[in-house]
Amino acid sequence: YFITIEGSDGSGKSTQLKKIISYLEKKQVDLVVTREPGGTDVAEAIRELILDPAYPQMTAKTEMLLYAAARAQHVEEKVLPALQAGKVVLSDRYVDSSIAYQAYGRGLGDMVAQVNAIATGGLVPDLTVFLDLPPAVGMARKQQEENHELDRLEQEKLEFHQKVYEGYDALCKKEPERICRIDASGTIEEVFGQIKAALDELLDR
Ligand code: C5P
Repeated sequence: YFITIEGSDGSGKSTQLKKIISYLEKKQVDLVVTREPGGTDVAEAIRELILDPAYPQMTAKTEMLLYAAARAQHVEEKVLPALQAGKVVLSDRYVDSSIAYQAYGRGLGDMVAQVNAIATGGLVPDLTVFLDLPPAVGMARKQQEENHELDRLEQEKLEFHQKVYEGYDALCKKEPERICRIDASGTIEEVFGQIKAALDELLDR
């Protein structure tokens, strides 16, 4: 099985990822854990290029193509071989991130799905866990301050994350069978309880 995890900033993705890994290991699942952008040497090198602050002039389209290039390498070199060997692959982010961040957030629209269909060769996850948290709540969590007035930059960031969230929302509505939408506003254990149920349903299928 191919499982992916998605979520916006402050949704608790890293915390839940750790819990998912120890749960699946306890269940003796033959697991490969990976992440995007990255997961292989070539894709990690592309990740560094994308995230390098030395290139503020990088356009949205270039960025989108680099994410897709990293993904093509990741799928072909690591994900597909592991799936073919009968392993369960767990990826921190996948195509849904590009739809949310690049198609909706950066406003690139339909071309993102088209490019990614080429990059992935049509590989779709069996289960995607989406940690659903409204962007304002996520940002507040990050700042760990309540009733904090947002400055202009933070306001812009919030607007961007609002668009990203709209993207995830649209994906959830379009593919409710694949994407398990999880209310990420609860405690760590409450959130993990919901994820565990979705994992069990897939693995005991
Ligand atoms: O995986 P993680 O949550 O650490 O990702 C960090 C950031 O990478 C995200 O908040 C997002 O800004 C950016 N990202 C992106 N487009 C993607 C994947 C990640 O802009 N396709």
